[in-house]
Amino acid sequence: MRNWLNLFRFSSSVPPRLPSIDDAGPLRGRRILLRASLNAPIKDGVVTERFRIEQAVPAIKYLQSKGARVIVIGHIGREEKETLAPVFDVLKELVGAKWGGFLDINGASKTHDLSDGDVLLFENLRHDSREADNDDSLAIELAALADIYINDAFSDSHREHSSIVGVPKHLPSYFGPSFIKEYEELYQALDPKSPSIFILGGAKFETKMPLVKKMSQKYDKVFIGGALANDIFKAKGLEIGKSLVSPVSLSGNEILKDPKILAPVDVVIDGPDGRRTVNPEEVTPADKILDAGPATIDILSPYIKSAKSILWNGPLGNFELGFSTATEKLAKLIADSQARSIIGGGDTIASIHGLQIDDKFDFVSTAGGAMLVFLETGTLPAIEAIRKR
Ligand code: ADP
Ligand code: MG
Repeated sequence: MRNWLNLFRFSSSVPPRLPSIDDAGPLRGRRILLRASLNAPIKDGVVTERFRIEQAVPAIKYLQSKGARVIVIGHIGREEKETLAPVFDVLKELVGAKWGGFLDINGASKTHDLSDGDVLLFENLRHDSREADNDDSLAIELAALADIYINDAFSDSHREHSSIVGVPKHLPSYFGPSFIKEYEELYQALDPKSPSIFILGGAKFETKMPLVKKMSQKYDKVFIGGALANDIFKAKGLEIGKSLVSPVSLSGNEILKDPKILAPVDVVIDGPDGRRTVNPEEVTPADKILDAGPATIDILSPYIKSAKSILWNGPLGNFELGFSTATEKLAKLIADSQARSIIGGGDTIASIHGLQIDDKFDFVSTAGGAMLVFLETGTLPAIEAIRKR
């Protein structure tokens, strides 16, 4: 009986299947518009971290092997002026891509010269303000370039942009392998096995509030650290000095009374007396809370060691300023635990990069905002756009 129940439990966590490239029919000679996540960090015109770009490679190679003609689109940076040229250098090396330049008439004409197996990369979509405006005229122009649309850009798929939610209105649409992997892994995080713990750090409580509420229903414990803890201290009436807080107030919020929710019991501050570890009650108006202290890690440790499921997003301290001790200790504890561990967030990954333990987690998500939206809602605008077809 027990086994049957377990089987049932397991099957309930199988995510609804998304349409994948395999469903797209014969691909030889077909023009595929592949929306990839190409927003890699660039320094002095060179890509400094290839991980995101490498995630686009399985889709591209699969399409090439089927004789498709691949048209890759994506964005980079926040400024309209930023260029995908450094990303092109990497894609040229990895899959022999050609440069399409701007998506104007000259660019579009290059899609007619493609042979089977060719890969063409166009310039940063955000050069055209219609992309972020989700202007359907751009979606129509993009759709006209191809026969089939594939979204393999999970980390951009929380945005209601033309290339994400507009194009699927005009083309048969599917998801690529990196998207589906991310979707299936994060889906598991929505159905944790008990005992479970969700650890949330970083900043901007206003963006993470719904997630705390949702996860406190799903996880046995929710630890709130990083600058988010400052909001809790403040709402409890404690002095937080010059610490970073969010523009929203938690005062009177049910989070404060939720017995599942844990917060730091000691904090590392910087102030007139230098760097010190104190109790949250001892912070003075001149201090700044910048990390969690060792007693907090001691409290977290047994939960992590006994957990079957761990989900972690957000550093526990301002690691950029060197307040990285608690974050690194936490990362090592999770890496050594027997639990199924899922971690994610741009800054979270950056904060533990130096430890070189990425492969000790069951899944490392490179999606920041999209991960939060997916965990919060169980879906993404991109998924809804393709589902609607
Ligand atoms: P992620 O990108 O992993 O989702 P966030 O963007 O939410 O994480 O938050 C990361 C930021 O939070 C980092 O810039 C880090 O310095 C900051 N942070 C964490 N704890 C503190 C703190 N106590 N004081 C100031 N900043 C903090
Ligand atoms: Mg961040």
